[in-house]
Amino acid sequence: MSDSHLMSTYARQPLSFSHGNGVWLTAEDGRRYLDLTAGIGVNAMGHCHPHLVEALNRQAGKLWHLSNLYEIPQQERLADRLCAASFADRVFFTNSGAEANETALKLARRHFDLTGQPERWRTIVFDGAFHGRTLATIVAGDGEKYREGYAPHAPGFDRAQFNDIDSVRALIGPETAAILIEPVQGEGGVRCADPAFMRALRALADEHGLLLMVDEVQCGNGRTGKLYAHEWSGITPDVLTTAKGLGGGFPLSACMATERVANAFGPGNHGTTFGGNPLAMAVGNAVLDILTAPGFMDHVCTVAEHLRAGLSNLATRYPQHISEPLRGLGLMIGLPAHTPNTRIVQACQDHGLMVLTARDNIIRLLPALVITPAEVDQALQKMAAALDSLAA
Ligand SMILES: *Cc1c(COP(=O)(O)O)cnc(C)c1O
Repeated sequence: MSDSHLMSTYARQPLSFSHGNGVWLTAEDGRRYLDLTAGIGVNAMGHCHPHLVEALNRQAGKLWHLSNLYEIPQQERLADRLCAASFADRVFFTNSGAEANETALKLARRHFDLTGQPERWRTIVFDGAFHGRTLATIVAGDGEKYREGYAPHAPGFDRAQFNDIDSVRALIGPETAAILIEPVQGEGGVRCADPAFMRALRALADEHGLLLMVDEVQCGNGRTGKLYAHEWSGITPDVLTTAKGLGGGFPLSACMATERVANAFGPGNHGTTFGGNPLAMAVGNAVLDILTAPGFMDHVCTVAEHLRAGLSNLATRYPQHISEPLRGLGLMIGLPAHTPNTRIVQACQDHGLMVLTARDNIIRLLPALVITPAEVDQALQKMAAALDSLAA
């Protein structure tokens, strides 16, 4: 038996940190790391962004929690702003990505129940998908290892091939209610849905009266250089879920929908104790201040191009370890590895650089959106040193 009293769900690195500032983290032993993981895309504004710290501290001195039995004006404000900036008319706030997806799945079922088609309850999902760790979302997602030992599996999911519209069409039946897709898959290997595929999904959903639901838990909130990744394809979904970057490190997620669909929820049909509490709302509003500031998306696109150019350059210098084509969009980047990706991650860590893995032996980079070109240059230098150390 290990001497930890934690359930051993994670094979953790023997590394802990005392504080962070922007893209920098300081370990307990004083070593500094340049963080290109941002808590798996969560710390979108970097660690301890002063605007977020200020918003959280100000709210902490006023009111922490209330329950959704009362009006929460900060919730109204964040919902207003999210809807003004997107396709959505209504928002339900939760605390995690999986909960936002559960909300979307429940909403789809109830929508068809109320519109006289209760037989429509199944959802088409994709290979490589990741939607969370609840009993339903481990089945919606495609990792066999996430489902192992949890039988019987929640029913109601049919799996199509990502970027293959015929495979989606072939699965549509009288029980199909919705299509759920990540416009850019994160855990699944940083794979982008083709814009033409997204448009074909929209057309197919319209043709068959299905709901198109996008999981932007990871790719939303400016990560790809637009507020939401589906915007790159010019379509709008019926339902969107998001989390990770939305709270900048404070647990916050949302399920957003058009009026037509959101109408299915009335008082008592769904709920949450913690979702949308004043602390989360204060931080969410502060994150949105930065995300929607003029020029911020331009910054994300510019710095992303700079990082991508540098990585392409490294791929030419170290073809035995990494290669093009780079995957992803904006600051959601997948770098194909030829050495086991975990070895590269470890070498990077030894050189003071934190990066992630994803499926398909991908090195995944999800830096804070506020990263500067100068910090990108430092990251590239560290990665070069790490790759040099592997060659030796
Ligand atoms: C991280 C993630 C989730 C799950 O979010 P949790 O907050 O861990 O529940 C769901 N979908 C996608 C696309 C994710 O990246």
